[in-house]
Amino acid sequence: MRERLRLAVPNKGRLVEPTLALLHDAGLVFEEHDRSLIARVQNFALDILFVRTNDIIEFVGDGVADLGITGQDLLVETGAELPVLRPLGYGRCRLAAAVPSDATYRTLEDLAGLRVATAHPETARRFFAERRIAVDIIPISGAVEVAPRLGLAEAIVDLVSTGSTLAMNGLRPIGDVLASEALLIAGAAACEERPAELAAIDTMLAAVIAARGRKYLMMNAPASHLAELEAILPGLESPSVIPLAHAGMIAIHSVVDADAVWGLLPRLKAAGASGILVLPIEKIVP
Ligand code: AMP
Repeated sequence: MRERLRLAVPNKGRLVEPTLALLHDAGLVFEEHDRSLIARVQNFALDILFVRTNDIIEFVGDGVADLGITGQDLLVETGAELPVLRPLGYGRCRLAAAVPSDATYRTLEDLAGLRVATAHPETARRFFAERRIAVDIIPISGAVEVAPRLGLAEAIVDLVSTGSTLAMNGLRPIGDVLASEALLIAGAAACEERPAELAAIDTMLAAVIAARGRKYLMMNAPASHLAELEAILPGLESPSVIPLAHAGMIAIHSVVDADAVWGLLPRLKAAGASGILVLPIEKIVP
């Protein structure tokens, strides 16, 4: 068994920056050296392997790496049955079927008998077969969105996040095939032989992900307003309530959803809170 764990991450493409941000936010210290093949983590027995996104699943499947970060769409496409430790909350996109904006096809069923170009042929084939829609899948590896204009296919199945690339290419989505985000995957052998080490990495990443959508709220208030303020604060657990030096005054601390903060502030003020602080949270371990 190797002494140090190996984590394979993408060396190119749109998963690179958010993946490096997650690893750094988790507190792993390493140098990227223009993403040469391998980086040694200084404060954990872990090596980071920078490889092509498309190769990550194979590396993890073969045991060359113990863990990997890759897109769910790629895992589904290869059909590899690797343990998924955790969805990572970034790299969100969907695999959607789309047709030229001026085409008359409205639904997925309207594609019966037509050609569908895609870089995800296995996923598309399975999807249409399950719905008993007989389409002709044309596998292509890049620039899928130009296939209809080239006369290669009547429709495409491609990754979409905002939909602006589709619109720029004169295409209109007609149905979703798959929702995808970045995943932390593991090798079967590593899961069996090194469960505690995998759990340590997983917990590190999970703590960052859990903290990302949350804020720490602190405020002062008259103790007589506690019930009213508590009713406004949704937190998972009850807030911490701390008596202040001034008689009859308390401090309330609570963890709330970041999206809810702007809605909460005026209500908390109206209910008697003052000196409200909104603080970032680095990590949450439930
Ligand atoms: P890339 O290496 O940049 O082609 O993309 C690698 C992975 O990023 C894809 O397999 C998806 O899992 C993910 N991804 C997230 N958003 C998008 C998007 N809008 N288009 C393509 N890929 C995306």
